Amino acid sequence: MPKRRSKLDMLTWIITELIIGIGLIVYGLYATINALPAINVLYIVLASLGVCFLLASIIQILVYRKKKIKKFCSKCGEKIKKDDEFCAKCGEKVE
Ligand SMILES: [Zn+2]
Repeated sequence: MPKRRSKLDMLTWIITELIIGIGLIVYGLYATINALPAINVLYIVLASLGVCFLLASIIQILVYRKKKIKKFCSKCGEKIKKDDEFCAKCGEKVE
């Protein structure tokens, strides 16, 4: 049970980071174009922050995808995805 919950939390966090990142970039760039030159440094910083969020979430997605295939079937040795309940090759139940 705690395993399932941490996975959901991680996905929620990644999606939140993506949304915040894209939002900050779009808002920052839009405001930079429309704002007065004196204050648009603030919006450039906001957009940079958005890029950081976006990069962080992309890295987390890559790490998450890498972790997904790591188990092997005890019967035939086939790779098993984290979410699979049965082996795709021989149908052995994964514990
Ligand atoms: Zn198998």
